[in-house]
Amino acid sequence: MSTKYIFVTGGVTSSLGKGIICASLGRLLVSRGLRVTIQKLDPYINVDPGTMNPYEHGEVYVTDDGAETDLDLGHYERFLGIQTSQQNNVTTGRVYFDVIMKERKGEYLGKTVQVIPHITDEIKSHVLGLGQSGKYDVVIVEIGGTVGDIESLPYIEAMRQLRYDVGRKNTLSIHLTLVPYLAAAGELKTKPTQHSVKTISESGLSPDILVCRSEYQLDTSIRRKIAQFCNVEIQDVIASLDAKSIYEVPLLMLEEGLDSRVIEKLNLPAKNADLEAWRQFVNKIKYPGSETTIALVGKYVEHHDAYKSIVEALIHGGAMNDTKVHIRWIQSDYINSENIQKTIGDVSGVLVAPGFGDRGIEGKLSAVKFARENKIPFFGICLGMQCAVIEFARNCAGLEGANSTEFDITCTYPVIDYMPDQRMIQEKGGTMRLGKYECKLTGSTKSRHAYGTEIIYERHRHRFELNNDLRQELMDQGLVIAGINPERDLVEIIELENHPWFVGVQFHPELKSTVANPHPLFVDFVKSVKTFSDKKKKSGDIQQQQPV
Ligand code: GLN
Repeated sequence: MSTKYIFVTGGVTSSLGKGIICASLGRLLVSRGLRVTIQKLDPYINVDPGTMNPYEHGEVYVTDDGAETDLDLGHYERFLGIQTSQQNNVTTGRVYFDVIMKERKGEYLGKTVQVIPHITDEIKSHVLGLGQSGKYDVVIVEIGGTVGDIESLPYIEAMRQLRYDVGRKNTLSIHLTLVPYLAAAGELKTKPTQHSVKTISESGLSPDILVCRSEYQLDTSIRRKIAQFCNVEIQDVIASLDAKSIYEVPLLMLEEGLDSRVIEKLNLPAKNADLEAWRQFVNKIKYPGSETTIALVGKYVEHHDAYKSIVEALIHGGAMNDTKVHIRWIQSDYINSENIQKTIGDVSGVLVAPGFGDRGIEGKLSAVKFARENKIPFFGICLGMQCAVIEFARNCAGLEGANSTEFDITCTYPVIDYMPDQRMIQEKGGTMRLGKYECKLTGSTKSRHAYGTEIIYERHRHRFELNNDLRQELMDQGLVIAGINPERDLVEIIELENHPWFVGVQFHPELKSTVANPHPLFVDFVKSVKTFSDKKKKSGDIQQQQPV
């Protein structure tokens, strides 16, 4: 069977959730026994999002092969249980960069280099690179941006051409659009959808299926109207209503028959969808047995997308423990030893988030100290782990003035310091320690217990590390080294004893948590959060029962 390509475009407005629709369709097709991957084409000129501010772009999702990519790739991995790579994310910057490099090498043999055919050919080669690998039955291609944007045009044109290059019957065009409810008129409006379909059709990529985001159910008459004006059959008007959880979307799309329509149109050999495990997961999210609250301490907290994978991994960990984890977002700029009790005194877990630069560091350190002293379950991720080491050095190991050289190059005790190979690096893009590295778990630690295995592989994105020159001194004072990268002898995990759960990791476990395989550290962290919360409730009940 030749590989099938599904192009997904969006219209009317951004933020309709194209990534979730792609991931949901992908999930349904995987559940029907097909081999699926998803590729994101991003129309911006940055070569990758690695140098972008989290406020601009949200989280940078890192793949095993060390690519810094769009956060939608996280959804693809979480929903499909697949591994993505650099190949799954292409930006305009990357495309132009490669074309210009080829031009400099003389590869265009004196031709004038143009958007069509050179840029469109380059885009097509990226899509075909995945499709022709022989690994997939279906490649879903999500085209970033909104139809009508100037930046998206080369992508739409490339997809239009691809339809003919690989054969019309091997491709499908899905358009995601909005059907807004106009309160004044008291009805749903189809005109924006009609216009959006008109725009994309003018580019030669007329949709075969329309997925219509709406706050209200689309009745038959409105579906008929959309079908009639937009050149599709009524069964190809799929309603996508707002869902409480993104994990419900595959089930909603199943009900609407999105997968069946795709399978029929592409003539795919597919069995019935087996979504039992998914349903159970969704039920656990919808009907949790208990509720817990953790503080997520970071400096980009106004923009939750900056911590996307952490939020999702906490949902996965919550489902495994039959509890709903509420996140209290704590802006680290505003906390200090004076107000910390008031801010997070009542939570059952503290997570100090990854980040860069010195803004908000002292706030993060006060959160670590509070969690350590009050024996509240603590999880430090990347910068969060580095903060835990600094706090321990200053307040437990007597290393006054301990810091990271990221924040204070002349500090007395640089317990966190540049990795040697990072010192001379000048260029910012793609030069951190990135991607998958081995870690050997040591001793009978919390981490070793949670993973249930000795060798693990986790993803990294950082320039600094625990300073090996000061490692022994910290260990002598009680810091537990729970994981080491054997190749370079780097500390990857630290823990504290005499604490219910205090773990800091130099890597990003959140990037590997999926619905089918929730990350063991998140599962174990939430378990200890739940135990802590139960204990608190019990002692509260007892206190209430005491006669005054
Ligand atoms: N800024 C720190 C470093 O580069 C931590 C990075 C992170 O949290 N991802 O090492």
